[in-house]
Amino acid sequence: MKVRFAPSPTGKLHVGNIRVALMNYLYCKINKGHFLLRIDDTDFVRSTKEFENGIYADLEWLGIKWDSLEHQSKRGEIYDKARDDLIAKGLLYPCYETAEELDKKRKIQTSLGKPPIYDRAALQLTAEEKTKLEAEGRKAHWRFKLSGNRVLWNDLVRGEQTVDTSSMSDPVLIREDGAYLYTLPSVVDDVELGISHVIRGEDHVTNTGAQIEIFEALSGTRPEFGHFPLLVGKDGEGLSKRLGSLSIESMRGDGVEPMAILSLLAKLGTSDAVEAVLSIDDLIGTFDFAKIGRAPARFNPEDVTRLNSQLLHITEYDAVKSHLAELGCDLGVDFWNIIRGNLHKISDAKIWAQVISGEIEPVIEDAEFANAAAALVPDDIKSDTWSGFVASVKEKTGKTGKNLFMPLRLALTGQAHGPDMSQIFALIGSDKAKKRLSGNKA
Ligand code: GLU
Repeated sequence: MKVRFAPSPTGKLHVGNIRVALMNYLYCKINKGHFLLRIDDTDFVRSTKEFENGIYADLEWLGIKWDSLEHQSKRGEIYDKARDDLIAKGLLYPCYETAEELDKKRKIQTSLGKPPIYDRAALQLTAEEKTKLEAEGRKAHWRFKLSGNRVLWNDLVRGEQTVDTSSMSDPVLIREDGAYLYTLPSVVDDVELGISHVIRGEDHVTNTGAQIEIFEALSGTRPEFGHFPLLVGKDGEGLSKRLGSLSIESMRGDGVEPMAILSLLAKLGTSDAVEAVLSIDDLIGTFDFAKIGRAPARFNPEDVTRLNSQLLHITEYDAVKSHLAELGCDLGVDFWNIIRGNLHKISDAKIWAQVISGEIEPVIEDAEFANAAAALVPDDIKSDTWSGFVASVKEKTGKTGKNLFMPLRLALTGQAHGPDMSQIFALIGSDKAKKRLSGNKA
């Protein structure tokens, strides 16, 4: 079993691409298969090394590991061989119409109420006519001759599928400048590199009809196919307009955890509940094509934010230790266990490290109350000191409930919300607590 993820390095990877990569990865791992990363860089103009490096960086960061790597730009000779094979079989034929001529044909067909399918006029050209056209300076583009039959396959997601190739134009495989369009290199690679399962978005369903005919012409066989519904925005709109903000690079820059993204993408549009999962390996066992629905899956960036918090709440210290150190706020396992339930992003840990071991500006609204509390702070604070301290402040000041707790929290932490005060109080310690309640920066 061998799958491939085949991004084109013509832009940044976004959540839609990663969903395709992840489905391939999970299905591959269930079946102990091989995951090929294929860089579809046949478009020399739009492909860049920078985008390609971005693909590696994103996949590595997400923990989607590939077993082998191929570049379409290095496989031209293999495509040339396939081209010659199809020509020899009479399945690839040269056409000389210009874009304007084709457009005119389509307009005439449409006005006559006919479907705008290529009329195969080029198949009628004699050798002399072709020579004449070429002498005029015309260059051929090449079309694959479809059978006109119904192509059937059993899709892993969609079940029985039929594409009637008589309702399609013969696809152009080679442009007049000799460049291969996506279809031929993709099929040739899937054949040559032994891809057993082609898993991708349903925007490729119609292509699959023509591709299966090319597969069979080249190899006499075909892989399995699975096409899952595309991602749409939370209101059902296409994602294309917001792709910048949905790029993996920008989410990484925003401090999103990779597993928050993967936890969501693995479950969106499936019958499973979406929940934070700690490792990609834990997603493998729950993956099943049968769980994928037919409706488009709605992607809401707020779900990533929610999962990110959930994930941090269940993450153990050992898993974040080095990241905390990088952020300059590794204050140990107790610190982590106390604050993790209050984090939205891991960088929020810096705020709490500051509260505990740095200096903050206390927030004091009632100085008289705060001074009274300062005088009651014991010299030695332990995790069970808080309740006795609060009781003594209550007795002294007459304040209760929110009027008692909130001013203490604001003075001691500078924050209106946060972890359990009895734990935080102990970590802050007596000296800082006294200073902050007295209105001093500490
Ligand atoms: N490079 C193609 C794309 O990004 C690959 C499609 C496929 O999986 O066949 O759309």
